[in-house]
Amino acid sequence: MMLAALQPIQQQIRRAEIAHRRTENAVNLLAVSKTKPASLIALAYRAGLRHFGENYVQEALAKQACLSAFDITWHFIGPIQSNKTKALATHFDWVHSVDELKIAERLSVQRPSHLAPLNVCIQVNISNETSKSGITLAQLPQFVAEIETLPNLALRGVMAIPAPQSTFNAQREPYRQLVTQVNALNHPLLTEFSFGMSDDLDAAIAEGATWVRIGTALFGARN
Ligand SMILES: *Cc1c(COP(=O)(O)O)cnc(C)c1O
Repeated sequence: MMLAALQPIQQQIRRAEIAHRRTENAVNLLAVSKTKPASLIALAYRAGLRHFGENYVQEALAKQACLSAFDITWHFIGPIQSNKTKALATHFDWVHSVDELKIAERLSVQRPSHLAPLNVCIQVNISNETSKSGITLAQLPQFVAEIETLPNLALRGVMAIPAPQSTFNAQREPYRQLVTQVNALNHPLLTEFSFGMSDDLDAAIAEGATWVRIGTALFGARN
């Protein structure tokens, strides 16, 4: 069996990079494998993918145990409960969804000392009504200053999940606002922009995404 959707998505990303004058390979593909079996991750790995995103800690740990022989970089992209921070700090390379100082402090304290600092993105809520997750843009400068002081975290950038929009221009708008605000901070560590999913990856790439998180378009619908 082949992962038939992979090549078309890689081509779509490359076309969008060219169309929007992004540097070649500036956009990384994060394969969102939540609810999908380890066997499918193994297939995607053999097709060349190395970065996988998971939302549910227990499910992710079970799959990681099956895939320990693979050189996978694991990204956590879901809501974080404080009783799961130890597992995240121990078993992931990136956490995209940090939006509470208490959680960030726990991740830093619990990161095992033999591992490199945990890469983190700050989740920003750019369409306030629709989601409870993420800090506001107004809170971003203060939150960045706090996260920076945590020794076992490596602050890398921001992550967002905007409300769905039906047109390309409407999809771009919240991303543009986020990027404008982040760039205004002129902060050397904030270089990663984790945004864009199956339905809006062109808009996300147009506005500066460096990680597009793709599930459905790659692996098919989830049950
Ligand atoms: C599920 C999920 C995705 C992938 O969404 P698709 O629409 O299936 O591509 C991306 N990011 C987050 C945070 C998710 O929970």
